[in-house]
Amino acid sequence: MDDVRRIVVVGASLAGLGAVRALRAEGYDGEVVVVGEEVHRPYDRPPLSKQLLLGTWTTDQLALEAADEGLDARWVLGVPATGLDLTTRTLTLADGTRLVADGFVLATGARARRLPGADGTAGVHVLRTLDDAAALGGELQPGRRLVVIGGGFLGSEVAAAARTRDVEVTVLERGTRPFARQFGEDVGALIGALHARGGTTVRGGVDVAGFASEPGPDGAPRVTGVELAGGEVVPADVVLVAVGAHPNVEWLRGSGIEVVDGVRTDDRGATSSPLVVAVGDCATVVDPEGGAVRHEHWTTAAERPAVAVRTLLSGGSAEGRFTGIPYFWSDLYGERLQFAGHREPGDVPVFVEGSADEEKFVVVWERDGVPTAVLALSSSRTFTKWRRQLAKQTAAV
Ligand SMILES: Cc1cc2nc3c(=O)[nH]c(=O)nc-3n(C[C@H](O)[C@H](O)[C@H](O)COP(=O)(O)OP(=O)(O)OC[C@H]3O[C@@H](n4cnc5c(N)ncnc54)[C@H](O)[C@@H]3O)c2cc1C
Repeated sequence: MDDVRRIVVVGASLAGLGAVRALRAEGYDGEVVVVGEEVHRPYDRPPLSKQLLLGTWTTDQLALEAADEGLDARWVLGVPATGLDLTTRTLTLADGTRLVADGFVLATGARARRLPGADGTAGVHVLRTLDDAAALGGELQPGRRLVVIGGGFLGSEVAAAARTRDVEVTVLERGTRPFARQFGEDVGALIGALHARGGTTVRGGVDVAGFASEPGPDGAPRVTGVELAGGEVVPADVVLVAVGAHPNVEWLRGSGIEVVDGVRTDDRGATSSPLVVAVGDCATVVDPEGGAVRHEHWTTAAERPAVAVRTLLSGGSAEGRFTGIPYFWSDLYGERLQFAGHREPGDVPVFVEGSADEEKFVVVWERDGVPTAVLALSSSRTFTKWRRQLAKQTAAV
């Protein structure tokens, strides 16, 4: 791209900040504008359900920027982008501001999925932002009953953190067991056992139908329970809805940018326009065989902007592509769970360390005898060995 004088990054979080850093690292010396819906400068989300809820960190430890970074960017915060017109290269913001630019990095991430009937009911929470974490954290008082809807990573982490505050916790999971849908019954049983040891009640195979409420002290409805499909009401003082996330892409409607769940990109971050790249939780990477994957992983959002920015600055001609294998971690009851690789249905799990009865394990999935993914609880050394091997295998393809 010749004579690029202004690039706008949409989304002021991990992937957006990574894009700004990458632009400067590539020697781009034009103007960089970062537009963010939240009022905050970029902060880290993983600690929201871990250190922040456990009370071991304060909010000022979440900042992603170093004080002396000197990125020389203009931050337009507290206002979302509402439209992109590629013919005039104009981004429109909700307050009517129009920003004309030579290139755009889309990094608008994802937002928490909500359940019908929860809006307007006090005590029902989601957890995606710092503000969500403050609201939820303030409600987790000793002796209160928390019901977590969804036994995935987020729900399980919040359950574990809430137990350290002497909150009574029940996790409602639609699958048979937490994590069983992602990792199979054996792993589900292990995570279920971890919850049981931590004092959390887990109920698998239940469908949530709605919320029970009564007028609170201010007259507004306040949650009193979660209604299950069979009519039973599970009593609750506080509820967390942790049933996944939606990519923030609706605002691109009419822009001509192709969306398939997330913004459609190739493995260099290129979208359907050479003026635009997309990274992080809002991007779906489609491979030449038609496989599509949208990761919601910290490492993916942190690492991929470097390649995408090269794609943008070169007008699409740079050859680099995303490498590396998906990785994420989770902290539960003081134990670290880590996953890496590409697990697909039908891959066969093999316990290479520990077993389904132990508190420490490493499970490797295989396809036709070749390892595809690894999951470990409290076994960082063995996990790292397998992760390296999987990365080498992928790089060799
Ligand atoms: C509580 C929690 C715990 C997590 N724990 C882990 C973990 O342990 N391990 C792990 O690998 N991952 C974890 N993740 C996931 C990880 O945090 C995300 O993958 C990462 O934050 C993605 O970064 P991102 O910049 O793509 O998107 P986001 O962090 O979602 O940021 C997108 C930003 O764009 C803004 N935005 C949205 N729409 C617009 C718009 N129209 N205009 C302007 N701005 C907009 C949003 O407000 C937001 O600030 C966790 C996430 C959460 C919420």
